Amino acid sequence: MSTDINNTKADAYDNFHLQYIAGEWQSGQDDSVNTDVNPYNGDTLVEIQQATKKQLDEAYQAATKAQKEWAKKTPAERSAVMYKVVNILDQRQDEIVDWLIKESGSTRIKAMVEFSGARSITLEAASFPNRVHGEIRASNTPGKENFVYREPIGVVAVISPWNFPLHLTQRSIGPALALGNAVVLKPASDTPITGGLLLAKIFEEAGLPKGLLNVVVGAGSEIGDAVVTHEIPSFVSFTGSTSVGKHIGELANGGDYIKQVALELGGNSPFVVLKDADIEQAVKAAAFGKFLHQGQICIAINRIIVEDEIYDDFVERFLAHVKTLNVGDPSKADTAVGPIINEKQVKSLKEKIAKAQEEGANMILSGEIKGQVVPPHIFSEVTRDMDLSRNEVFGPLVGIIRAKDEDDALSIANDSMYGLSSAVFTADMQKGLRFARGIRAGMTHINDISVNDESNVPFGGEKNSGIGRFNGEWVLEEFTRTHWISMQHTPRDYPF
Ligand code: NAD
Repeated sequence: MSTDINNTKADAYDNFHLQYIAGEWQSGQDDSVNTDVNPYNGDTLVEIQQATKKQLDEAYQAATKAQKEWAKKTPAERSAVMYKVVNILDQRQDEIVDWLIKESGSTRIKAMVEFSGARSITLEAASFPNRVHGEIRASNTPGKENFVYREPIGVVAVISPWNFPLHLTQRSIGPALALGNAVVLKPASDTPITGGLLLAKIFEEAGLPKGLLNVVVGAGSEIGDAVVTHEIPSFVSFTGSTSVGKHIGELANGGDYIKQVALELGGNSPFVVLKDADIEQAVKAAAFGKFLHQGQICIAINRIIVEDEIYDDFVERFLAHVKTLNVGDPSKADTAVGPIINEKQVKSLKEKIAKAQEEGANMILSGEIKGQVVPPHIFSEVTRDMDLSRNEVFGPLVGIIRAKDEDDALSIANDSMYGLSSAVFTADMQKGLRFARGIRAGMTHINDISVNDESNVPFGGEKNSGIGRFNGEWVLEEFTRTHWISMQHTPRDYPF
């Protein structure tokens, strides 16, 4: 298939009302409809007739059939498809960024960050077919040779969230496909296009054989559990909230079949500013790491913890800086804070604002909530036991906690059931490293924000933030299985 693209109306990616199952664009057969809306202006983008369990089964059957042929392809053939995907991403960048803005309420800045993340993991995945290798291991049994083969898993179920839909879907499906697997993907209901159908178009255009990638848009009540419990997938790659993730984990291993799971769940990232930090740099970092995508990022700063000596200075400068941020239309290049994904999330943020005030936090910045646009809200004198500190905010609200000293800051940072990302600012790198190693989290950044993701380093969390790692060798291992095969060259002397 040609990847020569002229971005004309005729081949533009602008019609997404169908499911992508077994390599065909087909109408959903369920009675229910997914109405996909622009979270900024409420425009209906598309109405998708949802899929039934029968269509989900069709997707799994197609995937299992296609995977057998795909696994036999040479590494070069599988890499070539990934390189074509990168090529199409580049050529269609403007269209993709526009979709991210209108479907997921991404600001232009966030859409570009997300686009680069998706591109980067696709490029990394293109190298995977040639990086898979087995091993030969010594044996204590005379005449035996041990081989460890690394093989594709088969069919992978992918369930993805709405906040970074393109990137967080692609970081599962790109590596899974490159490594010889097939995929059945259920995107989030708020982002069926950027989290699924758009990627299906791109892979189709790149020449991925039919049946290897299936995108099934359906109601949780109809197909939600069945995506996980279906007999075919032996691996479930879930990214989303901790509560749904726990349910997925139970489903994956509580039924007739035992399945491997990767659960990338919620976070409560601490951002710690120690007394010797460059306060100006810390202030700018805190604003970007908190308000990018309106704070709707699993690794967004959730708690700002500042050492007593510089607390007042930091709060004053942070407040002044956040007041300069532009809030509103996400399509404008200089907008920093755009809309919240849906009304349910807006309601939950209003409740969090009320609760913070009730609990005695000092609201030093607020603003009128217009439609789904919630302006930044800042609370000072927040304590570790308040709701703002204990739970994932997932919005443009932040509490600033006062720490007595470095030890107290570390104790507050670790006082969470989550352990995804974290950050510490200090002028002393040795102190920063000591502090970072004391944090129980999957990721810690010294003198930078908690929002970091690179396709060649491990991304993932501890505690209730989940199990498994994305990127590089870590995802390569996750989406393959090991198989020990031994050869007995000489007859063994069995005891009986
Ligand atoms: P969510 O858990 O509500 O939904 C995630 C996905 O699960 C969606 O596709 C949803 O439709 C699906 N789902 C819901 N119920 C299901 C069921 N019973 N069976 C099968 N699928 C079901 O999460 P969300 O609101 O889309 O995303 C926000 C959450 O995701 C936040 O908590 C955030 O921290 C987390 N997140 C984590 C990471 C990470 O890498 N750790 C990345 C992004 C988001």
